[in-house]
Amino acid sequence: MPNKSYIGRFAPSPTGPLHYGTMIAAIASFLQARAHQGQWLVRIEDVDTARCITGMDTKILKTLNAFGLHWDGEVIYQSRRTDVYEHALAQLKQKQLAYPCTCSRKQLAAETGNWSPVYPGTCRNSSDWHSDGYAVRLKVGDDIIRFADKVYGEQHQHLAEEVGDYIIKRRDALFAYQLAVVVDDAEQNITEVVRGADLLDSTTRQIYLQQCLGYATPDYLHLPLALDDSGNKLSKSSGATAIDNANPQTTIISILKFLGQTLPDDSLTFDELWQYAITHWQPETISLQNKQVF
Ligand code: GLU
Ligand code: ZN
Repeated sequence: MPNKSYIGRFAPSPTGPLHYGTMIAAIASFLQARAHQGQWLVRIEDVDTARCITGMDTKILKTLNAFGLHWDGEVIYQSRRTDVYEHALAQLKQKQLAYPCTCSRKQLAAETGNWSPVYPGTCRNSSDWHSDGYAVRLKVGDDIIRFADKVYGEQHQHLAEEVGDYIIKRRDALFAYQLAVVVDDAEQNITEVVRGADLLDSTTRQIYLQQCLGYATPDYLHLPLALDDSGNKLSKSSGATAIDNANPQTTIISILKFLGQTLPDDSLTFDELWQYAITHWQPETISLQNKQVF
């Protein structure tokens, strides 16, 4: 039965043009939404303003349009939503789940013996919101957070041991991705998150934040990553080239193949290709191996 209340999303960061790797997430999230006769929203994740490139949002939206990836509703921009994030932060403070941290990287390195990714909790009892230059950390609980990913299966993480209290607002006053994404997914009533497996290990942090804020947890489906010929994730820095807007059909078919989907013959028109891809979409056949595509 199609689920009329399905709401999915694609959430690119305008730090570079869409490339093959990000297009996988765009196409898979689109197909999953359309196959459920649901909505597909686009959100520009420009919360980390320093890393964003002016005009890149327009370029990304143009590429989506050229690919026939037409979204529902208004595109929202994280950079315009600071007040919404402030509101969520105020709730966390009120619940005594957030505290200011003035530790420098250097201090943390000295304290943990070397550089450790797990925050040792130095400022946990601080409530000095008046000093200059602090980051805000979220107090993690001692529970193991679990979820069942639709491709990668059962996942769990003990946040206290593996992550520690993590930053939700940075020292430079920008909100951290983890907080922004959780608030936005909740406000947009996202029922399922489809995105690259590079974010698989952020998911427990996001679920914990949802619990702290009293939000529902969406379903999660993470996609295998496309690798370059030296086995690295495709990204701007590994030289992934921008998607060519002029020839979407070839890229779409290549990505359907990457995602383990049945392929149409070449005689289909552009609209028929999408119709075919939607009606034949089977997320169960996505294989969880990372794959080399270039
Ligand atoms: N903005 C993130 C990225 O481009 C994706 C976040 C998400 O899908 O949750 O990597
Ligand atoms: Zn600290």
